[in-house]
Order: sequence, then C-alpha cells, then structure tokens
Amino acid sequence: MPERDVLQAANEVYADSFSQGHLPMPPARRLAIVTCMDARLDPARFLGLEPGDAHVIRNAGGQVTEDAIRSLVISHWLLGTQEIVVIAHTDCGMLTFTNDDLHGKLRDEAGADASDVDFLPFPNIEDSVRASLRAARESPLLPDTLEASGWVYDVRTGRLAEVRETADVRG
Ligand code: ZN
Repeated sequence: MPERDVLQAANEVYADSFSQGHLPMPPARRLAIVTCMDARLDPARFLGLEPGDAHVIRNAGGQVTEDAIRSLVISHWLLGTQEIVVIAHTDCGMLTFTNDDLHGKLRDEAGADASDVDFLPFPNIEDSVRASLRAARESPLLPDTLEASGWVYDVRTGRLAEVRETADVRG
C-alpha cells in the first residue's frame, strides 16, 4: 500500500476522536521554534508542546534562512510570538555534504545546473546555531525585544544542550 493510503487511514482514526477544533490561530505560548526537518526530531514531544502552543518552522538544518525569517516575521508581527528557539541536533545530515557534492550529484543524476544554489550545509552544529541567532537578531524585520535562544538536541539521548554565544558574536 502506498504511504498516502496509510496516512489517510491514520487520519481517519485521528479525526474520529478530534476535539481541538476550537483552538485560536495565535500560538498560546507565544513561541516560534526553528528546527531541522530530521525525521528523528519530534519537537512537540521533546518540548512538551500541545497543539496550539507554538509555531514550528522546519527546514534542512534548522537554520534561520531568508525563508525562515519570512515565517518569523509573520509569526511575530501578525500572530504575536515573542520568543524564538533555534534547535539544531547531533548527527545532522547537513554535516555530511558540501555544496560541491550536491551540485555534482544534481549535475550527474538529474542533468541540472544547481551551481548557483547554496544548500547551506555546515561543518559545525553549534556555529550553525550561533549563525541562526545572529541572523534573527540582525534582521531589520524582527525587533530587538524578541527573546532568542539556541540549542542542540542529542538524537541519542533526547536531551537538549544550550548553545552559548561567544563574546565575539554578541551583538
Ligand atoms: Zn538535521
């Protein structure tokens, strides 16, 4: 059976006992979380979030990219979130390739020229989190009053460790 059919069957079970249709659109805990798309990460579970609590913005690497900023701007200015939490994780796929690797793969296997695309791989998890915090802080579209913190989730233990900003990057 294709996955889509399995998903639909699971959804029917879910909807049969669904009781949260009353939730308002703005996140109750005024939180925006930026994290990786990695299949092992279940932010609602490892952060104790309920539906309606937070925006969860996910992409490859959990990075505050231009598109993540787009979502954060909407999250803050239109939906009232006041705190950003960036969560990267150990064993991230973004540590495993370079732009050159992926450009070559796309050229060889898809005949596509992606040489002008930065896929944003990174060699260091904590530095990536610091760069994300810096990007959020330095965006002219987000206010300085937003709380922001950075974390690394350990996929082996399920535990978060805070990423401290070093003095030279403190804004
Ligand atoms: Zn990842």
